[in-house]
Amino acid sequence: MQNTGGERPTLEYGLADRTPKAFVDAFVDVVSAREKWAADLLQIALHSDPMVHYGLPLDVMLMHSIDQHLVEVLLRHPIEMLPLLEDALRITQAALLTEHRTLTAAARDRCGGESGEQGNEAESWSVKNNIHPRLHSLPLVQQHTKATLGDIRAADAGHLVAIAGTVVRTGGVKMVEAAKEYQCTACNHVWTLYSDIEQRGIITPPKQCPNPLTATGRPRKTPCKGRSFVYVEGSHVCRDYQVRCCALLCAAAEG
Ligand SMILES: [Zn+2]
Repeated sequence: MQNTGGERPTLEYGLADRTPKAFVDAFVDVVSAREKWAADLLQIALHSDPMVHYGLPLDVMLMHSIDQHLVEVLLRHPIEMLPLLEDALRITQAALLTEHRTLTAAARDRCGGESGEQGNEAESWSVKNNIHPRLHSLPLVQQHTKATLGDIRAADAGHLVAIAGTVVRTGGVKMVEAAKEYQCTACNHVWTLYSDIEQRGIITPPKQCPNPLTATGRPRKTPCKGRSFVYVEGSHVCRDYQVRCCALLCAAAEG
């Protein structure tokens, strides 16, 4: 059948294709494959403040050329997949930092133990927990690319959508509680709940335990019946956010 209207072809790529850990491993492979992304992650490790939130720009079409299947699942299920990509960024950064320290230590040894300023520097670098993927260059199809803000519909909620524009006005920077971990008292499963900016950063306490596995590590046929959840002390993450108003580049060019 002919594909009309720029819609993406229907391919059955889903979350059940791999385990969450396998998705994280695949993201690590993709992010490690590009020197630029690896260099950017090392650059973030160099910053001294572990509490600041850092963004890593990632070109989605480039990621797609490295692992098509993985990126198709990311585009289909961003809410579930983005936290796995964040995990992968931390894991990749830790691996790069270890490798970098090993290399600088070896270089120092070769120089007869003479100081390497660079080596000492690398000691103070640290893995940052707050690294977030900033996805850009989404596929140029109707589903992911909109011409104007007005083209975004309710059906786009929960999906990745790109519009091209330029920032013309910004609001003040505000702090919101971005995420919290909860633990089910029935099965001890711990998971992260994210806040909704539209709801002023409110995190709604869970109603149901999302544990996908049984105590023996098998996929559950029926959900966990646990209805009591406790907040994991010290697990909340706060984040700055800012409202930006955009004007479209094309409108500016025409005007
Ligand atoms: Zn449970």
